[in-house]
Amino acid sequence: MMANGRGLGEQVERLRSLSFKIGTYRPPSEGGSASLLLRVTENCPWNRCTFCEMYKGHRFVYRPAEEIKADIDRVAAIRDEITAVSCKLGMDGKINRDLGAALLAEGRDLIEDSSFITVFNWLSCGGRTAFLQDANSMIMRPREFVAVLRHLRETLPSLTRVTTYARSKTLAQRKPEELRMIHEAGLDRLHIGLETGDDELLALVRKGVTRAEQIEGGRKAITAGFQVSQYWMPDLGGRERWRQHAENTASALTAINPHYIRSRPLVPRPGTPMFEDVAQGRLRLSSPHERLEELALMIGGLEVTSRVCFDHAMNAWVDRRGGLLFRQDYEGYRFPDEKPLLLERIREGLAVQESRHVHARELMTVQSL
Ligand code: SF4
Repeated sequence: MMANGRGLGEQVERLRSLSFKIGTYRPPSEGGSASLLLRVTENCPWNRCTFCEMYKGHRFVYRPAEEIKADIDRVAAIRDEITAVSCKLGMDGKINRDLGAALLAEGRDLIEDSSFITVFNWLSCGGRTAFLQDANSMIMRPREFVAVLRHLRETLPSLTRVTTYARSKTLAQRKPEELRMIHEAGLDRLHIGLETGDDELLALVRKGVTRAEQIEGGRKAITAGFQVSQYWMPDLGGRERWRQHAENTASALTAINPHYIRSRPLVPRPGTPMFEDVAQGRLRLSSPHERLEELALMIGGLEVTSRVCFDHAMNAWVDRRGGLLFRQDYEGYRFPDEKPLLLERIREGLAVQESRHVHARELMTVQSL
């Protein structure tokens, strides 16, 4: 078939020739296939947290702004080529399953082309959101980051939300005007791993940041206009330190009052120092009921107007009917209104026989040890 002087085979060949850097990790709320994933740096510039396996063994790479902009141009070229094929096939520029089938019929190998697949899925979901990878995009020099964000917004105008991971430490180090400049250039939301608000635990797990810096970084980001999503890690203190973990996390999050608070219970991953701590008995993990007690203390201490979310499979406690104890949607429980409801759910979980909380965490840990 020919159109615009080019055959479909030629257009598929052009799609094969276009690629850009995509990393592995993104938050579940950027999941499915809805978000465009784009690497602005590679791996983690800190990479020392004892519980984290995400980028271990991988060197941090600071990508030059011009290289990232070239990647954005390639995303736009893939978008334009896919749209051109849609028009050529009489689909009016729509990106849907029929178009995907037509493209794969011409070039079966495209199914393994992550650049093509990412852009195709992103477009078929409306092309609205992007997530900038990897672990701490705020490490970019502010002016370079601003240039990249402006180019992203100009080149891909369908975007309505751009988000990324950030470390509190870096946010605390940035000047307020730098943060505001980055936000105004087009970055909307920051996903920040708080893990705990307890200084002793932060030092033990080598988070590389203090509670005061976490609070300062979170507050500065909110003042600059960002939506802030903070992740905390139930059971990070194990049986010895659960109480200080819960109390100090609640007070740190209260001091920040982020837009979102997201629970990510600890899972000791093979290859991490924390996995060894558990294997050698230096860290004794809590049982499902003990973790619910910890949750009750943490949640009870929160004085926030945040959304409190359990949007991960690791939060898989059950209720009396065997259903999920907590809603796992991305918008979570609206505080303060739904705080009593959430505390009631925790009480219900505690009333369920402990053995019924067959937890994804238990299964993963036992299989690995
Ligand atoms: S800063 Fe984040 S990505 Fe880096 S090692 Fe710590 S938890 Fe992992």
